[in-house]
Amino acid sequence: MTSTAMPLFYACGAGLRGVEYWPMAPDNNRLRKIGAVLAGILLTAVAASAQVKVNLADGFDFPVGKPNAEGYFKARGMRLREPQHFGEDWNGRGGGDTDLGNPVYAVADGVVTYAHNVHVGWGNVVLTRHAYRDPSTGQVKYCDTLNGHLNEILVKDGQQIRRGQKIGTIGSNFGMYPAHLHFEIRHNINIGMQRNSAPSDLVNWADPTEFINAHRQLNREWHAVVIPTGTYQEYAGFKGL
Ligand SMILES: [Zn+2]
Repeated sequence: MTSTAMPLFYACGAGLRGVEYWPMAPDNNRLRKIGAVLAGILLTAVAASAQVKVNLADGFDFPVGKPNAEGYFKARGMRLREPQHFGEDWNGRGGGDTDLGNPVYAVADGVVTYAHNVHVGWGNVVLTRHAYRDPSTGQVKYCDTLNGHLNEILVKDGQQIRRGQKIGTIGSNFGMYPAHLHFEIRHNINIGMQRNSAPSDLVNWADPTEFINAHRQLNREWHAVVIPTGTYQEYAGFKGL
């Protein structure tokens, strides 16, 4: 009895001081319990809303000249050996800056994981995350894309995107390069802006054109899946989704 009586005694003692203003004061303990329950409900709701779901991709397209890169050519391919180039450079057939400001499209349904101007050699960058069912294994997998040197960013961290949606425009990193899209696909969704954090191999990286060609049409599955978030290290002051 004493163990439960003691806190009650203290609660009443504390409440007495407020009696003349609020006769309910002796019920402080009960109010605190209700408060704790409400806080618990709120935290559970916040945790549930933090789960991000995306549609399983029904296929992948090229990021420019949708859906087949019409009017564009790959000026530089992926190369995982030194000197490395972790993605592909896409240029308009007109050459030079003729493609400056042209649309860059989401290659598949997904969510924006990082959309910021990080300056240095990158400029405006948009990373997106996608879930798809690997046709060879039947397993759900994830992949990230990186779109670099954009002239404009048209999406925000956490924004849901649809296949073919315009997410930005082709840029030059503000005059540093002739306008082109630097485009990467990663199997490893932890890389983010830290490209030295993962071995330079086909476990972590995909050859973008090969990957897109191998996943042009996937079965449409009318349900969403939860995707991992919080997988990136902060870069240029931004953590991303
Ligand atoms: Zn490049």
